[in-house]
Amino acid sequence: MTEIPSEHPRHDSLVTRHRIEEGVERGITSRQGLIAQGRGEAFDYLLGERTLESADEAARAAAAHLLLARHPVLSVNGNVAALCPEELVDLAEATGADLEINLFNRTDERVEAIADHLRDHGAREVKGVRADARIPGLSHERAKVDADGIYDADAVLVPLEDGDRAEALGAMGKTEIVIDLNPLSRSAQVAAVPIVDNVVRAVPNVARHARELRTHSREELAVIVDAFDPEAALDAAERAIRAGVSDD
Ligand code: ATP
Ligand code: MG
Repeated sequence: MTEIPSEHPRHDSLVTRHRIEEGVERGITSRQGLIAQGRGEAFDYLLGERTLESADEAARAAAAHLLLARHPVLSVNGNVAALCPEELVDLAEATGADLEINLFNRTDERVEAIADHLRDHGAREVKGVRADARIPGLSHERAKVDADGIYDADAVLVPLEDGDRAEALGAMGKTEIVIDLNPLSRSAQVAAVPIVDNVVRAVPNVARHARELRTHSREELAVIVDAFDPEAALDAAERAIRAGVSDD
């Protein structure tokens, strides 16, 4: 990673790619995760590798949701664990949320490797190891969650979730916050709050907003939540991608 000069025009993208590669080598990220990363990179390139104004507003609404929630949970998969473990731990701390490992291709080895990795980056409690409850409407392996984690949560942040599971979680009545660089992804489209941004920028940005909003009253937070329009956020991102125009 240190070999990439900071003035290299593709510096951030190369660092990110390297982290995913390392994640695969360490058994944290699946090989499918490499493909997902490639897809994400293409969208990020078209977005100008920056946080759109509309994505920043979404991050603020996400922070307000997490602060208002009775039981917020941050869902962690192999890509985000490799890309931004410290930032996830920090966001959990800023919002009082649980961290839960939730994998599309679940294996005990990978769950263990991710749990260790998160603990190495400061996580105290990591859920998702027990997996003693099921999300209704999904096949066995993909449905596994913790009874006192995602199953019980009223607000879930799911970075890079697949469309089916995003939909199934929404059907359970949970407030779903999705981080996905593709505004046309089904996961982004079913979310109460779609954040169209790279997880490496979005996760710390939600944490920053949460710290700023922590002193706000519940009424003030509710105003932020109500004012957010998911369709408008998706439209703004799609416009920015298609036209290469700035939304700000
Ligand atoms: P659909 O949601 O339409 O059913 P999918 O989610 O099953 O599709 P994948 O290729 O698994 O399809 O999706 C990976 C998604 O994750 C892509 O939409 C991609 O833009 C997004 N993605 C990948 N890397 C990142 C990243 N670093 N930050 C944010 N989003 C990312
Ligand atoms: Mg998707």
